[in-house]
Amino acid sequence: MTVRVRLAPSPTGNLHLGTARTGIFNWLFARHHGGQFLLRIEDTDLERSRPEYTQNILDGLKWLGITWDEGPFFQSQRMDLYRQKIQELLDRGLAYRAYDTPEELDAMREAQKAQNQAPRYDNRHRNLTPEQRAEYEAAGRPAVIRFIIDDNREIAWNDLVRGTVTWKGSDLGGDMVIARQSASDTIGQPLYNFVVVVDDMDMAISHVIRGEDHIGNTPKQILLYEALGATVPQFGHTPLILNQQGAKLSKRDGVTSISDFQKMGYTPEAIANYMSLLGWSPPEGMNEIFALTEAAQQFGFERVNKAGAKFDWDKLNWINSQYLHHMQIAQLTDLLIPYWQAAGYEFDWQGDRAWLEQVTALIAPSLARLDEAVPMTEYLFTPQLGFADDAKAQMQQKDADTAVSAVAEALPESGLTQEAAQEIVQQVVKSKGLKKGLVMKTLRAALTGSLQGPDLVQSWILLNHLGQDKLRLQQALALVER
Ligand code: GLU
Repeated sequence: MTVRVRLAPSPTGNLHLGTARTGIFNWLFARHHGGQFLLRIEDTDLERSRPEYTQNILDGLKWLGITWDEGPFFQSQRMDLYRQKIQELLDRGLAYRAYDTPEELDAMREAQKAQNQAPRYDNRHRNLTPEQRAEYEAAGRPAVIRFIIDDNREIAWNDLVRGTVTWKGSDLGGDMVIARQSASDTIGQPLYNFVVVVDDMDMAISHVIRGEDHIGNTPKQILLYEALGATVPQFGHTPLILNQQGAKLSKRDGVTSISDFQKMGYTPEAIANYMSLLGWSPPEGMNEIFALTEAAQQFGFERVNKAGAKFDWDKLNWINSQYLHHMQIAQLTDLLIPYWQAAGYEFDWQGDRAWLEQVTALIAPSLARLDEAVPMTEYLFTPQLGFADDAKAQMQQKDADTAVSAVAEALPESGLTQEAAQEIVQQVVKSKGLKKGLVMKTLRAALTGSLQGPDLVQSWILLNHLGQDKLRLQQALALVER
């Protein structure tokens, strides 16, 4: 059998984390089996679908490296096919027009509630007499189209993730609406559960891999496949992505879309890597840092968990840091420049590339996210740097001013090297009889405006190249209260 899978996002929002993860599982499965991965944009909800969301979804998938072999197909362009199939069901007596008004349906549900029954359509228009139908038509009542569901059916499938799943026909809420209300001689807008089945049939999808939130749709869809005379594909329902408290991940957890991760400074490789691990465990012995192509060789549903996958920021940050730490400095510099520019830092980005790469090399080992480079390098890019409280306090220490003045006097105009910097410190320690620790700590406070930060001597050399070090030392001295 040829494996053909699809991702079917609705463009009612930016590419969501859960959708992207489903996309990755589909992609991995397709590549593992040498099959095809299709992309279908489910834009039948005309009010909520937006072209900019479609664009965001396509861009996000490409950014992650989730390439598709066919599509994107747009459901909005396939309405004729859906209506044709609905007509077929009407002609064969497998679907019918139901003329209930919203008020009548509300009253029906109220009555069910009053009797402690679960709300469902009671199929009251399934067997209207020709006279009753003619009456509704004459009155100009609009109708939905309902697909007949046999309450006595038992529907079962062997889920790739969950094993055997069974549903009773009587738990499906009665005959289901497959087209919205419209004038009774037309077919209204075809609805999700129906169009998905028509598309998956038409696109010869072999495996439907999607989020667990769709599990309740599957029995209805299976009945539709049967009614339309198609082979039922295999289904795999992937576990939900949960927050650390075990609730479904939501906007409140600070994660929504893939473009947010992009802005926050995660690399696409790290995101794709981490999301592969949300619900899938690689075989023992496989490194946790892997490219999607490597994961594709190993991927299979026997190692996809049933339980929800907890989203773990620490793990994601660790994975991202692994990618950043092993990246070529030139490439990392290219990725950092937009963050520095967005922060408003000014620099000769093209002209002084060598200096920039030294900055990158300096901070690379401590970066977990690209955006962290902005605060980490503020002292290098900000000529009018303020001093943090701890740095101010350090300048008030006994002998701090002596250390800073002595260093300032010994400074070369430019061309400071590691050796020269060490030499200056040694000399000041010796000639002024100061502790080396005090000199270094005070220098850090004076040069970088803070007591925390990357390697001091290297920072000093970078500032010296900009002609900033002497100025900083003078500014720091001005802080000292005498
Ligand atoms: N359009 C649905 C969604 O965005 C997916 C439908 C499916 O995969 O069957 O959730």
